[in-house]
Amino acid sequence: MSEVFNGNFTQQEPIPEEAIERAVEVMRSGRLHRYNTVPDEPGEVALLEEEFAGLTGAPYCLAVASGGYALGCALRAVGVGPGDPVLTNAFTLAPVPGAIAAVGGKPVLVEVTDQLTIDLDDLAAKAPQARVLMLSHMRGHICDMDALMEIARTHDLTVIEDCAHTMGAAWGGVPSGRHGAIGCYSTQTYKHMNSGEGGLIVTDDAELAARMILLSGSYMLYERHRAAPRPEVFEGLKYDTPNVSGRMDNLRAAILRPQLPTLADRVARWSALYREIEAGLVGAEGIALIERPEAESYVGSSFQFRLPGRSAPEMLDFVARAAARGVELKWFGADEPAGFTSRHDSWRYAEAQNLPRTDAVLATLLDLRLPLTFSTDDAAQIARILREEAEV
Ligand SMILES: *Cc1c(COP(=O)(O)O)cnc(C)c1O
Repeated sequence: MSEVFNGNFTQQEPIPEEAIERAVEVMRSGRLHRYNTVPDEPGEVALLEEEFAGLTGAPYCLAVASGGYALGCALRAVGVGPGDPVLTNAFTLAPVPGAIAAVGGKPVLVEVTDQLTIDLDDLAAKAPQARVLMLSHMRGHICDMDALMEIARTHDLTVIEDCAHTMGAAWGGVPSGRHGAIGCYSTQTYKHMNSGEGGLIVTDDAELAARMILLSGSYMLYERHRAAPRPEVFEGLKYDTPNVSGRMDNLRAAILRPQLPTLADRVARWSALYREIEAGLVGAEGIALIERPEAESYVGSSFQFRLPGRSAPEMLDFVARAAARGVELKWFGADEPAGFTSRHDSWRYAEAQNLPRTDAVLATLLDLRLPLTFSTDDAAQIARILREEAEV
């Protein structure tokens, strides 16, 4: 009798009690809007921004309504408008090309390598077509950031980092989101901190920070921000920057603040789950693992592997056999978008693009969520099941 895994791949940990208490206090006060504060009350959102700035080492931070909003806000702030080409990863999630489309930009898709990072040769070749790169650290895989930033400097590309899967990760000791001009994070339930929906943005650039604060809908109340540039910086911008309302509220910030100090511990627990799966699959016949470079410190909140040489029906069969044993896999090669997963050829608002290397990688690529509600014993069991199904 073969073993079956009984865990739930989408079950989150509860919100910490301290966060629940703070959220209840905010609700009792009635002051949920970030600028609805009494004298000398900084407000939960302004405090969250200050604390997240401290965590990432950035001088400026802005909290917004979602990760997707953060990406769109960053694009607007660097001046992307209708018709402007924006380079981005061909392997990413729909909100990334969606954010480019939202400002009228044209996604120019860059190939992915079999190590699941942006193909730097293809990036260098396409760089002359655009002046902005929206770099997605999809599924937490970070490319050689030194080499990428060198390409960006050579071609005068402004880099916006999509860190939806790399909050708490780093390259060469520098936090993900702190290599490019702007770093964008998501605090949506499936990411590394959970407020249901939410986004955070960091930057070193005072003018970009001021523009994004105004864009987010600060009206003329920007002086209430704490991780913000001096009021003078806003002077030259406040008449010309539209209010594209997308603020975070005090309730969500109250839920997030007590989670910040727990991030490092959560990252360590994710890594333990990830390494358990990896150890269980090393040397498995037919399975290709993704190598993690020395310079990359990653958050193992999901696990990817390939089954090189298998056809589409064989991939579907593998996914079905794993599912029958309680292991939920996503296949990135499916023709039709399903659930959260879609392929570049489903983003038909963007011009169709020829991406043979990406198509070849996605055709045999599988994805596994690793929620923190799993134990390392769970991870070991999942790996055993996958190994057996791969080797039949
Ligand atoms: C979730 C996600 C986003 C967008 O975040 P939301 O908060 O859901 O808008 C952006 N990029 C990637 C890669 C994501 O997975």
